Amino acid sequence: MTNSEDHSAQAVRLYRADGSPRPVGLLGFPIKHTISPDFQNAAFAAHHLPHRYEKWEVAPQDLTTFLEKARREDFLGLNLTLPHKRAAWELAVARSEEADATGAVNTLLLDEEQGGWLGHNTDVGGFLEALGTVGYDPAKQRTMVIGAGGAARAVVYALASSQAAEIAVVNRTWEHAAELVSQLGPYFPQSHMYSAPLDPAAWPYNRNPRTLIVNASSQGVLEPDQPFPVEADALAGRDADRRTIFFDLTYGDTPFLRAVRDEAAHAIDGLAMLVSQGALSFEWWTGLPAPHAEMLAAAQSALAERQQEHAG
Ligand code: NDP
Repeated sequence: MTNSEDHSAQAVRLYRADGSPRPVGLLGFPIKHTISPDFQNAAFAAHHLPHRYEKWEVAPQDLTTFLEKARREDFLGLNLTLPHKRAAWELAVARSEEADATGAVNTLLLDEEQGGWLGHNTDVGGFLEALGTVGYDPAKQRTMVIGAGGAARAVVYALASSQAAEIAVVNRTWEHAAELVSQLGPYFPQSHMYSAPLDPAAWPYNRNPRTLIVNASSQGVLEPDQPFPVEADALAGRDADRRTIFFDLTYGDTPFLRAVRDEAAHAIDGLAMLVSQGALSFEWWTGLPAPHAEMLAAAQSALAERQQEHAG
């Protein structure tokens, strides 16, 4: 498999030999707070399919055993979240370009004709779709990505393959950012890619504005009540202007979005991306168009419910 289209051209088999729906769902560790089942089940329901998208808490040491069992049970596919994306990449028999470039698989599809699990990374396409909803095209733009983990890698790959002119990768541990840039940079000579510490004093001055700043760090998940480590005006930057888009991959009321609230003409949280990456997974598994509006509405109401529970 060289890209995601290779599979979608093939016939999709949604049911087992006995007529029951092939199982599908999400693996993670921990997994308690996920809203993926809410919007994936909305998609299956919109297509009048009997499938139930489940979630399974699987420890890293149990992933291989789970996937072997899932294969025997003729699963349709799986999503993978922390900490399984790298291991899923290793266990896939074939991978899409996005998965290969990012070294991470967030979606598996079982295809026995190809010998087992096929791996794809829909975070790349999900991120670009979410950017598209605010009409942003990264081509020729100056951009910055905060973070250097798996999500940052998907974002950097998405921006570089969309011909961004500049991608600054800044991270708490500078070495991790430097490693990301040294791995992806050579494949994208048209993008000026560089790394820097998470310290605005170290960011080179350029009088042209950065038009996009993406927070792909997990600070907002790990420290939701702490302030973002870089202050608003510094984040907005002496270069930034009201055109700058601030995009947090974490969703809800995040420290990053609180920090930029007064500076940002456009601030986006991670919910649209979460739904878009899930929609791309749904389409890959089923060969059917994802019902975006229903999925987003289900995600928003699930999130509101979780927030109420949290407040209570
Ligand atoms: P990783 O664990 O791979 O990477 C985490 C990154 O966050 C590292 O760069 C780490 O820096 C940085 N970091 C962690 N804590 C802090 C902190 N307190 N201050 C500054 N930087 C910090 O995680 P992922 O890349 O997989 O995920 C990152 C975030 O993106 C998560 O919150 C995840 O939920 C979200 N995400 C959202 C998606 C969506 O669809 N909306 C899809 C995928 C991810 P260091 O290198 O120094 O450790």
